[in-house]
Amino acid sequence: MQQKDGKDQQRYVSRQGDTIVRVARRFGINMTALLAANPLVTEGEALQAGTELVVPSAVGLAESQPPPGRGLHADEPAPYGFAELMDDVAALQRRFSFLHTETIGTSVLGRRIVALRIGTGGKVWFANAAMHANEWITAPLLVRFAADCAAALEAGERFRGRDMARLLAESSVWLVPLVNPDGVELVLTGLPGEPAYDAQLLQWNHGVPRFTRWKANIRGVDLNDQFPAGWETERDRRAAEGPGARDYGGPAPLSEPEAEALARFTRERDFRLVLAFHTQGREIYWNYRDYEPPEAEELAERFGRVSGYRPVKLSGSDAGYKDWFIAEYRRPGFTVELGFGVNPLPVSQLDDLYEEAAAILLAAFDA
Ligand SMILES: [Zn+2]
Repeated sequence: MQQKDGKDQQRYVSRQGDTIVRVARRFGINMTALLAANPLVTEGEALQAGTELVVPSAVGLAESQPPPGRGLHADEPAPYGFAELMDDVAALQRRFSFLHTETIGTSVLGRRIVALRIGTGGKVWFANAAMHANEWITAPLLVRFAADCAAALEAGERFRGRDMARLLAESSVWLVPLVNPDGVELVLTGLPGEPAYDAQLLQWNHGVPRFTRWKANIRGVDLNDQFPAGWETERDRRAAEGPGARDYGGPAPLSEPEAEALARFTRERDFRLVLAFHTQGREIYWNYRDYEPPEAEELAERFGRVSGYRPVKLSGSDAGYKDWFIAEYRRPGFTVELGFGVNPLPVSQLDDLYEEAAAILLAAFDA
């Protein structure tokens, strides 16, 4: 799809799923230069498949350049979706042989849902992120945390004052950074280009081709209303008419492969604690219908102290992942609402969000 056009520039016809960031990366060129050469293209917007772009300068057709620094997309303040996660997982596997990865399921459109595990200890706990599509900024935070823990472990150094060799000998931490890859791609790059979905998605989105408000999966099911803990109650409360951007819990609990994978993965492990990262609100939800164990509130207060977030006792909410975990296991489960603003939060917040998320994750080692 790329051809030479004169001496020093070439043309590229965009494919489904391209963004200006991805095209710049593919050609190894500066995004500002690419935008300057294509004045009709707007940064941050999905490219329509078939858009012809001018690719400036004789940079050649090199495949994607690794990001600067330690080579992780998760370190860059840039959109982060399935391709970036796959790149980062491969980079982490190459770099850290002791980091375990596995696929816990696949999305509706067949994308892998990947889990990382760091540590070998008997205290097993779990954090997940990007269950809601327009909260994708939570995904790179978990990847960055895995990378930071692994780097400290390998170097025999402390990470934020913590002895990672000891912590990771005591604990095994599982991380699923991207629970809802199809939904995240929908937000980042627009319609999937699948005839079976495009027209329907557009209709559910009231004809709007940008999906920035979308929280659900590609079938319009809100994955955090999918879990068998008061599912009917939540359905009646939400009273969603049907599939859409948010609030529709699906035709039945765990009807969606992403939620089912998460539940199965959880059942197969013996997590003593779970954290589900969302945006936004700077709050930590720690209870569910008085099923939570006594230490849950104290843990939430500890997470609140290290992050500056407010622990909140919720009522009138069911069918979320942490609700189900608490009800099923009577162990501590938390929803952490990172950051403050309108979703999707701007990538300029990435480093600040990481400070707060990392503080909470490190505190979870002590639970
Ligand atoms: Zn959310």
